[in-house]
Amino acid sequence: MRAFARLEATNMHKATEFRLEAHPLIPEPLERLEELANDLFYSWDHGVRSLFARIDLRLWQKVEHNPKLFLRRVAQDRLNEASEDRAFLAEYRRVLSSYDAYLEAGPGPEVTEKLDPEQALVAYFCAEFGFHESFPIYSGGLGILAGDHCKAASDLALPFVAVGLLYRQGYFIQSIDAHGQQIARYQSHSSDELPITPVEIDGNVLKVSVPFPDRDVVARVWEARVGHIRLYLLDSNTEENGPEDQDLTLQLYGGDESTRIGQEMLLGIGGTRVLEALGLKPTVWHINEGHAAFQILERCRNTMMNSELGFESALEAVAGATLFTTHTPVPAGHDIFPRALVHHALGRYLEEAGLDFQKVFALGAKDGGDSFNMTSLGLRGSRYHNGVSRIHGGVASMMEGDIWPQVPPAENPIGYITNGVHVPTFLAPEWSSLFDIQAPTWKSELRNPDFWEFIDQIPDYHYWSVHKALKQQMGEYIVRRLKRQHKRNGTGHSVTDRMTRQLISSEKDTLVIGFARRFATYKRATLIFADLERLERILTNQDRPVVLVFAGKAHPKDKPGQQLIKVIHDLSMHPSLMGHLILLEDYDQAMARRLLSGVDVWLNTPEYPKEASGTSGEKAALNGALNLSVLDGWWGEGYNGKNGWGIPPRDTELDPEFRNEEEARDLIDLIEFEVVPLYYDRASQGFSKGWVKRSKASMKSITPRFNAQRMVMDYVNNYYQPASQQGALLMAEGGQVAVALADWKARVRQAWPGVELRVVGCVKSSCPHNGAVELRVEAALNGLSAADVRVECLVSPECTGTHGSPGPDSFFLERESEAEGRTVFATRVQPPYPGLQTLRLRMYPYHESLTHPLEMGAMLWV
Ligand SMILES: *Cc1c(COP(=O)(O)O)cnc(C)c1O
Repeated sequence: MRAFARLEATNMHKATEFRLEAHPLIPEPLERLEELANDLFYSWDHGVRSLFARIDLRLWQKVEHNPKLFLRRVAQDRLNEASEDRAFLAEYRRVLSSYDAYLEAGPGPEVTEKLDPEQALVAYFCAEFGFHESFPIYSGGLGILAGDHCKAASDLALPFVAVGLLYRQGYFIQSIDAHGQQIARYQSHSSDELPITPVEIDGNVLKVSVPFPDRDVVARVWEARVGHIRLYLLDSNTEENGPEDQDLTLQLYGGDESTRIGQEMLLGIGGTRVLEALGLKPTVWHINEGHAAFQILERCRNTMMNSELGFESALEAVAGATLFTTHTPVPAGHDIFPRALVHHALGRYLEEAGLDFQKVFALGAKDGGDSFNMTSLGLRGSRYHNGVSRIHGGVASMMEGDIWPQVPPAENPIGYITNGVHVPTFLAPEWSSLFDIQAPTWKSELRNPDFWEFIDQIPDYHYWSVHKALKQQMGEYIVRRLKRQHKRNGTGHSVTDRMTRQLISSEKDTLVIGFARRFATYKRATLIFADLERLERILTNQDRPVVLVFAGKAHPKDKPGQQLIKVIHDLSMHPSLMGHLILLEDYDQAMARRLLSGVDVWLNTPEYPKEASGTSGEKAALNGALNLSVLDGWWGEGYNGKNGWGIPPRDTELDPEFRNEEEARDLIDLIEFEVVPLYYDRASQGFSKGWVKRSKASMKSITPRFNAQRMVMDYVNNYYQPASQQGALLMAEGGQVAVALADWKARVRQAWPGVELRVVGCVKSSCPHNGAVELRVEAALNGLSAADVRVECLVSPECTGTHGSPGPDSFFLERESEAEGRTVFATRVQPPYPGLQTLRLRMYPYHESLTHPLEMGAMLWV
């Protein structure tokens, strides 16, 4: 490798300063460090990261754990020393051989039975990806989840490719000033300090262009390696574009709605073109949140270009191979664009693509309004849909019920897969070493809850010592961060000392409760302060003190979110709470790993049911922290009465203020009467046996269920495999099935408003044990035939709707006769339940090529 120098001019105090960065030569024995720096494998492999840290720890921290920047700035001497240090070289070779072994391993049978690696390919589109703090193209939960999804896909060696945008400035860097104001600062990252390389085809840099109003916007393409898989990122900062277009991919969630729609055109349309240019042929397309939904249009265009199919048939074929995941019930998470903007932004593209604006607009219409909803487009352009927890799946079914207007929301096709986290990324290495000793095969048992019973075999004192060591590391980290923060703000040393005294007191081993996430108002960060006097009394108890640690960013335009930061900041400076409340600035993935593995309790108080899943509590649980949270999102499934504490949400119909008060009181009650007493119930051993028991119950029940490997395998089994097959079926023989299905749907849509259904005779109201009742209905099918519909009787037990009752039994009625445009359907039903039961009769259009029997959203009840 050649050494070279970089010059940068910065203008300060009139005199120009030239910054010079002297790059080292990587000694030959350490050559492969560059390879390691260019694979996001480092984002979850502690071995790789500790190699860099060993060469120069201070520099490693200074470059914020960025391997590429590290290799550019490290002193030549350090590298030379390392290349001659036998212990280092041994570790280096060990890390490389584990890296090589990782890359060599192929997919297991659980994958190959479902997706043929030679043929199938999953394309995963998302607007943000959070792999590691050194690659800041994420803002919060959605990005981290997408990163974890890719990491687990790599671990499973899934045929998988991801597509996103490269934001030069990413999300903002947060500081909190002496008055508690959030200051947002954006920092540009040059491509050579990120783990990406330009994509070239036949020696030429790959570029794709997308028609925008009056011009084409060009994007260059970068590749990020993530172990087995690849992530392609589009970047509009290229010389073909004017300055405004160059800045299209400048910031994540920056700019106005016209920036946003432009970014989404690049992601959806441009992203599809990237895969095409690379010769990749995905068999399943996963749209992760509405931002990427424009890919549906581009895929329709491609299908129409490469076949005889018209728009409706192409849409059927495209949708059958598509999964759409919705991630939040909160309005800010759903892009809604005015009609005029959509017309302006997409007009030229649609014209060139031969797509009709009215038809396209109808795909994004919601509630008959005059705006375009990306979530609606995602749902109408896909036949597989899911929310991200059981509760959220139900909420999404209600919210998006208008897509299937006549179908009861509980039955519409929106399912759920609960989010999980990538264990190697978020499990502290200290725990993973302990597991290596206690249960060496644990890494391949991440979907086997029984296996995790081994946690109980770990001696309590050993278990607690690991937690305590991590907690101490966290304490030191917090002190470091606070010092930096306070120094800049001109806050005195004495304040920093008083603020952290409790936290680092090792003889007290103070109970630490953590809360860190985006400061969005629905997350109710200040709920715990509802009764300040009482909280103060609990936190500052001399014998049983408590420290609260807060961190998080508020979107630069979210003023109420920023107000929450100020409230917490001011409280943290108040003499009465000094030392018991700490607010850290600039929450990112590095801080998340520290806090989540160091705290005793992880707190979450969202407003039910708005926390679609939440994942930070899962990360905390892997590391032995106990969750104390509203029973919303994943915790609604994870809590089992013994593995943390749950706050039951109050009825959403109640006055919000009243709800807040009630839930806040539950929270404080739990802290005062359960959390604090259990934590400080220390006998001679210096820690609480009861606490360790609960912590083990949490770790062993949550780790094997709420991890990304389980999540991705659920996606494979429930969606990727079926969608792969359905897509192939619809496109077989030049798309004949798609054409037939689209024609059939058009016919049904025409006829349905004129269809009628009524009962013939009367339905008996009683029958003897072992008897049966005759059911007979008569339908006017308005030109449809008996084969175009299903007539169904649902029987539910009297107690239906109460917790744990089974769903209704269903029986189909068969065609019995047909005359004068009337079709009679009949069946005999033996009552499936003893005693009283309810019978309901309904009819809906049915075709064997449908993906979901109710996907047309049409249904008629008698
Ligand atoms: C896990 C994580 C999140 C998401 O946390 P929630 O509990 O889902 O809000 C946000 N930011 C970072 C840095 C994370 O690691």
